[in-house]
Amino acid sequence: MFESLSDRLGGVFDALKKRGSLKAGDVDAAMRDIRIALLEADVALPVVKDFIAKVKEEAVGEQVLKSVTPGQQVVKVVHDALVGLLQSDDQDLTLIGEPPHAILMVGLQGSGKTTSTAKIAKRLTEKDRKKVLMASLDVYRPAAQEQLKILGEQTGVATLPIVAGQMPVDIAKRAMNAGRLGGYDVVMLDTAGRLHVDEQLMAEVAAVRDAAKPRETLLVADSMTGQDAVTVAKSFEDRVGLTGIVLTRVDGDARGGAALSMRQVTGKPIKFLGTGEKMDGLEAFRADRVAGRILG
Ligand code: GDP
Repeated sequence: MFESLSDRLGGVFDALKKRGSLKAGDVDAAMRDIRIALLEADVALPVVKDFIAKVKEEAVGEQVLKSVTPGQQVVKVVHDALVGLLQSDDQDLTLIGEPPHAILMVGLQGSGKTTSTAKIAKRLTEKDRKKVLMASLDVYRPAAQEQLKILGEQTGVATLPIVAGQMPVDIAKRAMNAGRLGGYDVVMLDTAGRLHVDEQLMAEVAAVRDAAKPRETLLVADSMTGQDAVTVAKSFEDRVGLTGIVLTRVDGDARGGAALSMRQVTGKPIKFLGTGEKMDGLEAFRADRVAGRILG
């Protein structure tokens, strides 16, 4: 992720760092380059504008221009602004109150929802020592429920037994009951996805939400789809309400614009990054780490 952005910004910053002194005009030129680099990385225009305005305000200040290493100071201002853009207070899963805690996984088909469900379940089991139950509510795609069952066997996470013909809301209720009776800490509900956002999908997800009362509702979005991922996130936020975002396929996304736009446009924290097809291809999102990667 961020290869192209990182390359472009690296060039701008190398030039800046070499300069012994800086004038406001130098900073302006650097800001123009940063603006182009962000737009080319598919970051949404309003996000780019805000970002540049914030950086400019800080970077052309007297203190920066008169400092011994003005170029490096500008780089630091950009770094801090990036962290500010990406960071949120509720970065981690908030699983408080009486267990079992439902985590509702929503998103379009093919976004990586089932894979991410299993990855998060594995992480909660192994790292956080939680007792996790997974259930697939996807009764439309043939073999979707079996897919989750297989991932459960692979990762050693329990899955709700499949009952043929049962509808999503009823499966969600059965999963929560099984969670309570079985002493589970977390019940992960993998909902069905469609090829695009439609009313039927939203109504069904809303009904499942009402039945399961999730602590977390995570949108799984494919970072490779860039701005579309951000639009999808806004639709789900408006209709269902989200507590966070899982951004998948960042291993294949050289541009990285979705990550930068997502947080600002939706106001929701990115909680995890999907970094591969395998079950260990999951990273907890950390703003400083991502900003560091962008700036090289
Ligand atoms: P769903 O329809 O949203 O449940 O999507 P799936 O979980 O079935 O994932 C669709 C495809 O994307 C599968 O081939 C996954 O292995 C792949 N996939 C999911 N997450 C990632 C990721 O973070 N990186 C990569 N490279 N592939 C992923």
